[in-house]
Amino acid sequence: MTRELHTLVCLKVVPKSEEVGVDRETNTLDRANARSEINPPDMNALETALALKDRFGGRVSLMSMGPPFVIPTLRVGLAMGADHAYLLSDRAFGGADTLATSLTLARAIEKLGDVDLVLCGEESSDGATAQVPPGIATWMDIPQATYAMDVDFEPGQRHLVVTREVRDGEEVLDVPLPAVVSVKVSCNEPRFMDTGRFALLDNEELVTTWTADDLGVDREHLGLAGSPTSVAGLKEAAQASGRRRELVSGTPEEEGKILYERIIEFLRGAGTRGQEAPG
Ligand SMILES: Cc1cc2nc3c(=O)[nH]c(=O)nc-3n(C[C@H](O)[C@H](O)[C@H](O)COP(=O)(O)OP(=O)(O)OC[C@H]3O[C@@H](n4cnc5c(N)ncnc54)[C@H](O)[C@@H]3O)c2cc1C
Repeated sequence: MTRELHTLVCLKVVPKSEEVGVDRETNTLDRANARSEINPPDMNALETALALKDRFGGRVSLMSMGPPFVIPTLRVGLAMGADHAYLLSDRAFGGADTLATSLTLARAIEKLGDVDLVLCGEESSDGATAQVPPGIATWMDIPQATYAMDVDFEPGQRHLVVTREVRDGEEVLDVPLPAVVSVKVSCNEPRFMDTGRFALLDNEELVTTWTADDLGVDREHLGLAGSPTSVAGLKEAAQASGRRRELVSGTPEEEGKILYERIIEFLRGAGTRGQEAPG
């Protein structure tokens, strides 16, 4: 390795999913009362980046496309150990689908010029397409690996060893840098914020905001104008068929007897979709 590793983590700031409602009149998501958080798998991507920095040195940058109100949430990433955050924020980016989002992120990463590794989460908790990381790699014309469980680095050889989850097993890939890797949620345990870094967080210089003009991309490729897809409708999922439930009451002995009978019934076949239960 001739120079230090520069890892860039794409962080999407999302509404806490349990606080998002549905506006029944417009059939759109109602995020007005939802607090923001870093998309959970992106925390795993950041932990991956910080662990590589702990072992091999280098720098970790954060990048997010979103409105200015996401800055305090990005500062969480800085408090965890990232060195700098870049926010891509402009009305021209609004309404972007995954094509326009990945183009915007890719052009901003290229503007930095020296990024070796782009780490993303596997998917977002709101859009949940998992298309943005492969999109970034395609726009940048560099290798990609998705659903990584582990990312290791061979210092001096400028390549990664990525273990990715596949059906019924694992695949180990040799990935030359620069590359884009998306990591599986829960592939590691994100660290807590470092209280020793809190004093840094008021430093305005740690966050750089870029607009559409800074990226020099034709506006017809950004935001709504550059998005060939749109959400045509929203439907509530049909309720899954209800579980069988029975409230058992009585003395502990009576309850135990009823439970025993129900379990025996189940084992004899009533609960096994017609299959003969053993014994
Ligand atoms: C209400 C709603 C309407 C939408 N309408 C459309 C639509 O009409 N057409 C369409 O194609 N898409 C639509 N989307 C998806 C929207 O375009 C996405 O917010 C955006 O393109 C990112 O895609 P994603 O959320 O599926 O990310 P994913 O591809 O699931 O995210 C994977 C990873 O990419 C990175 N990433 C993704 N977005 C960002 C970001 N903004 N900043 C930094 N890193 C990021 C993160 O590391 C993330 O973990 C909609 C989403 C919502 C919630």
